[in-house]
Amino acid sequence: MAETRTTEETPRKGMNFVEEEVYADLQAGKNGGRLNTRFPPEPNGYLHIGHAKAICMDFGVAERFGGTCNLRFDDTNPVKEDVEYVDSIREDIHWLGFDWGDREYYASDYFPQLFDLAVRLIKEGKAYVDDQSSEEIAAQKGTPTTPGQNSPYRDRTPEENLDLFMRMNAGEFDEGSRVLRAKIDMASPNMHFRDPIMYRIIKTPHHRTGTTWKVYPMYDFAHGQSDYFEGVTHSICTLEFVVHRPLYEYFVKELADESYYPRQIEFNRLNLTYTVMSKRKLLQLVKEGLVAGWDDPRMPTISGMRRRGYTPASIRNFIDTIGYTKYEALNSVSLLEHAVRDDLNRIATRGMAVLNPLKAVITNYPEGKVETVEMENNPEDATAGTHSMPFSREIYIERDDFMENPPKKFFRLAPGGEVRLKSAYIIKCDEVVKDADGNITELRCSYDPETRSGMPGADRKVKGTLHWVSAPHAVDAEVRLYDRLFNVENPAAETDKDFRELLNPESLITLQGVKVEPFIIENAVPGAKFQFQRIGYFTPDKDSQPGKPVFNRTIALKDTWEKVQKKA
Ligand code: ATP
Ligand code: MG
Repeated sequence: MAETRTTEETPRKGMNFVEEEVYADLQAGKNGGRLNTRFPPEPNGYLHIGHAKAICMDFGVAERFGGTCNLRFDDTNPVKEDVEYVDSIREDIHWLGFDWGDREYYASDYFPQLFDLAVRLIKEGKAYVDDQSSEEIAAQKGTPTTPGQNSPYRDRTPEENLDLFMRMNAGEFDEGSRVLRAKIDMASPNMHFRDPIMYRIIKTPHHRTGTTWKVYPMYDFAHGQSDYFEGVTHSICTLEFVVHRPLYEYFVKELADESYYPRQIEFNRLNLTYTVMSKRKLLQLVKEGLVAGWDDPRMPTISGMRRRGYTPASIRNFIDTIGYTKYEALNSVSLLEHAVRDDLNRIATRGMAVLNPLKAVITNYPEGKVETVEMENNPEDATAGTHSMPFSREIYIERDDFMENPPKKFFRLAPGGEVRLKSAYIIKCDEVVKDADGNITELRCSYDPETRSGMPGADRKVKGTLHWVSAPHAVDAEVRLYDRLFNVENPAAETDKDFRELLNPESLITLQGVKVEPFIIENAVPGAKFQFQRIGYFTPDKDSQPGKPVFNRTIALKDTWEKVQKKA
């Protein structure tokens, strides 16, 4: 959690540019020295890592300077919004470690006030009802260098406008047949000032206000005023809203006096390599079944990352690392993965599992004998203790850890070669057993009883150390290996292709019959974090059932992509 400090003791050092501006406003005593931010998601999808950046900013600034942050659902379009999204958004913000207390608001709470303001603007001749279609309106917009054309309906009288607007809201007209527009300036160099639409007709019932309203405010007519109604002092958003800022201020001025005025400040969006961040595209992936849902562990959503085993700390650390700027950039997912490894290395419980098992029989080990060996739970954490793991005559090792004809520097197991079994003994491969097709089915090995780890004599050195599990004790599990969802670095930039063609067909590989040591299974509670030694970080998936464990690989131990890219 970001530290909370009072204004007085806050050093300027380490502030991002938004914090600098907020700090300056507080020092200048603006808004009576009050600080109130807000996070304003539209409940039309699940939150993604980009939203996490905004959340860290909005809540972080408030925490840092002793202010408050509201959660405001920007629910102005009933067609796309749903309570499922509201619930998921709440859960995700809490999981990231932030809390809005009792300051949960909805733009729909302000529909009456917004409507009143619209009526006032109509009466003052500052808004009019336009009967044109959206295509006609768009065609009159002009370009940034050429002025637009006035609508033929622009000079309706306030009385006529008021009558039509009331009837729009009474449901007398079809969707799309009329809109309410602000009467500003069709020649303004800022396109957003060219008589922007304030209200449109929507007849879909709203998840909170039902059928009360038939007209719904546009973002530009709702956002600034909602900030104002809520007492927001700093409305922090992303750079695409820079061009909206004059309009934000224009509408707020219709309400505000000198004593209090919300201020919009913009920072750069988070864009991440090998994924998409558009809610529209993410929804498409979900709807078309191209992923297993919003919380598919390959999704850039917070719920997906949680399910995959990412921690809130790793996400927050990543966001701290990339920082906040005034220009757009594409951030490497490797940085996020680095932060994930960093945190999991600190906290994950170590254990053993064999993904692609190959049986090894230790022929000179007594049949039926079971010893237990001690394994450190976490070498990074002195308080984490140890656990015991059974050792017996039959074990599994990783198929990749054996080669019949090894190259020169292969330090794992080969015919006649020796390796140490982690925390146990040194074994030697005496014989390779094959089936009729020549596939290796089993190794026959012998162990050196003098080499048990931690015992006198264990200092005999061999080059390789392998992970392993005891065959009769291991539990079968399903393991899901995830890779990047897209094959290209910036799918959004490939505008000549359908983004779905860019999906990585190998983004999910499911393994059955993975052999897992009992300790891991016993401790596989939801959210548990494990390091399977030499393989990677894993977490139980929500699809796990008693007797049918399922694990997600959060991330491999090393960044294999980085290596591939360096070689390429
Ligand atoms: P849309 O408006 O197209 O549905 P959106 O991603 O803007 O999508 P909102 O729910 O409006 O979604 O976003 C809520 C807040 O999160 C906004 O303040 C927005 O600026 C911020 N936000 C959204 N995407 C990102 C991103 N990639 N990086 C940083 N902030 C983001
Ligand atoms: Mg938005």
